Amino acid sequence: MPELPEVENIVRDLRRKILTKKILKVLILSDKAVKNNKKFFTKKVKGCEIEDIRRRGKFIIIDLSNDYCLMIHLKMTGQLLYQDLNQAVNQTIDKHTHAIFEFKNKGRLVFRDIRRFGYLKIEKKDKLEGFLSPRVGPDYLDISCREFSDVLISRRRMIKGLLLDQKIFSGLGNIYACESLYRAGIHPQTTSSDIKKKKVRKLYYSIQDILQEAINKGGSSVGDYLRPDSSKGRHQQYHLVYRKEGKVCPKCKRRIERVKINNRGTFFCPGCQKLAP
Ligand SMILES: [Zn+2]
Repeated sequence: MPELPEVENIVRDLRRKILTKKILKVLILSDKAVKNNKKFFTKKVKGCEIEDIRRRGKFIIIDLSNDYCLMIHLKMTGQLLYQDLNQAVNQTIDKHTHAIFEFKNKGRLVFRDIRRFGYLKIEKKDKLEGFLSPRVGPDYLDISCREFSDVLISRRRMIKGLLLDQKIFSGLGNIYACESLYRAGIHPQTTSSDIKKKKVRKLYYSIQDILQEAINKGGSSVGDYLRPDSSKGRHQQYHLVYRKEGKVCPKCKRRIERVKINNRGTFFCPGCQKLAP
């Protein structure tokens, strides 16, 4: 959390708020939140304009008007909130606020993170690819069904772990992996190369559809995810298995179960998602 749909919503919202805006002031309240030397970071970011804001997997990339770009990873609980200082709402700065960027128009971008795994990092534009490519594989929204099935066949890995491995394909996290496997009727512990062709196709299109549905609903607000205007996403209302243990499956009426796989809570329906012997 946040996953591809949440990060995509943040990027789209930020484009509307801060594109072309000039950063007047940078405040780092917690050194740990910034992966660069604090002075260096501040010096490079201050005075820049925002040229573009984009997403790569779960990374937010802000292109600055100099040779640098600012990367933000929200990890578990990170938030990017846009506050308009002309309005008297949503202006709280608390102990979980780690960085603030102030713009010329009296707006500010606030980086807040309760669990402190998220971070900011600037990188030279010509070094960005070198930083990202070992960490972030092709984006789920950019891959074809063919590319997806080729990887599943060749990797021979437990499907859920494979879906979550950002180095293979990027953007999916626990929520949408669980929901996609349920929609496709695949047990999360199935070995990827054992999944029949037809089911691989079904999984691919389930992922694509669920990600689009979640983007359109503003993402899922379970835990701390908020959009930059502090509003919540609505896709959590449409989850059928994620955090639904004990609830009745709408397809087969069995009860949804929760198991731990690779230390992550995994939700599935024992009726619809059978582990083949
Ligand atoms: Zn079921």
